[in-house]
Amino acid sequence: MKISCLYLDGLHAQQHPCILEHQAGMLILKERECGKKKAFWHLEDIQIIQKPSSGSPGKLGCVYQPDIRLIIHSLEDWNTLIALLPQSAFKKQLPITYSSIVLYAVLTCLCLAFFYKAIPIFIEQSVAFIPTSVDTKIGDQIVLDLHEELGRCENKESLDALTKMVTLIAPSYDLNVSVVDFALENALAFPGNSIVLFGGFIKNAESPEEMLFVLAHEMGHVKYRHAMKSFVRSQGLSFLLRLTTGNVSMIDTGVLDIVGSLGNLHNNRGNEAQSDQFALDLLLQKNIDLQKAPSFFERAQKQEAIFDLPDVLDLLSTHPETEERIRHIKETAKTQRKMQGEKNKYAHILSKKEWKALKSICYKEKEEK
Ligand SMILES: [Zn+2]
Repeated sequence: MKISCLYLDGLHAQQHPCILEHQAGMLILKERECGKKKAFWHLEDIQIIQKPSSGSPGKLGCVYQPDIRLIIHSLEDWNTLIALLPQSAFKKQLPITYSSIVLYAVLTCLCLAFFYKAIPIFIEQSVAFIPTSVDTKIGDQIVLDLHEELGRCENKESLDALTKMVTLIAPSYDLNVSVVDFALENALAFPGNSIVLFGGFIKNAESPEEMLFVLAHEMGHVKYRHAMKSFVRSQGLSFLLRLTTGNVSMIDTGVLDIVGSLGNLHNNRGNEAQSDQFALDLLLQKNIDLQKAPSFFERAQKQEAIFDLPDVLDLLSTHPETEERIRHIKETAKTQRKMQGEKNKYAHILSKKEWKALKSICYKEKEEK
């Protein structure tokens, strides 16, 4: 038996002419021109890939050589071949060809790109359709859990000083600013209107101006709903689906994980630049001296230089941009000074006594021992 055929080698799109021979329970595939043997297929390993139909040829494959495809155009030859094959050829799973592997890989890449790029963007954009009351409900719950987990610093004299600062820059904002007893040198904005300052940040802050800049920066995150976007992104589609049922209380993640994921919003360059600019505009408007504003980032920069990776200050620092951020604040401070001219009169923030009270909000008792 000799059957004329074509074959695909799995590497090229081109079909090669071939001859099939049947010997001792095997199908031998030879190149038609030179007679070179290309494949030896046991009949029981052969699979029908495609039956011939209305102009399409029949196709055969082999489990052990999934790259190679046999193409049979003559219906008579096809029937001769099929008569040789055992029943298993009609049932086995179709093998994966080289070209289908490429196709699967491309499809997989497209799906991954969709899931990693398009879905987070879609989820972020969907925040515009979520009422802000949902932000507040979620943020309040997380902050409440955080207070329970870490403990609040609630010294009245200190909190009065803090309220004075917040009122100075945000008299019309319904902000909920609290301080937690944790050594992290940072501050975080939450969905809704909550801002949490960590004890470590207040302890190390060098001036009320620096603290006001960080506060105003967090206000920027609040205004642009960065925390809600980050939260919705971290919770994923399941969260959006739960929202459609009105259920916002079921949050899968622990509070510290959520805080961690919200911290990532500080690592978004666009969000940072937008919040920095918001802070600068607000402080300029309130006539707060910007010369001392960048000291938080200057400390962060020193930490980066010492530890390479800024664990302590990482959330606000995002090292490659720290220098640029400092430069931008200093440039704005220079412009502010020029605008002031000889007046040199900036807004009064806190008295020395009030600043001292605020600085010791979490550490007063510990320091006195
Ligand atoms: Zn930030």
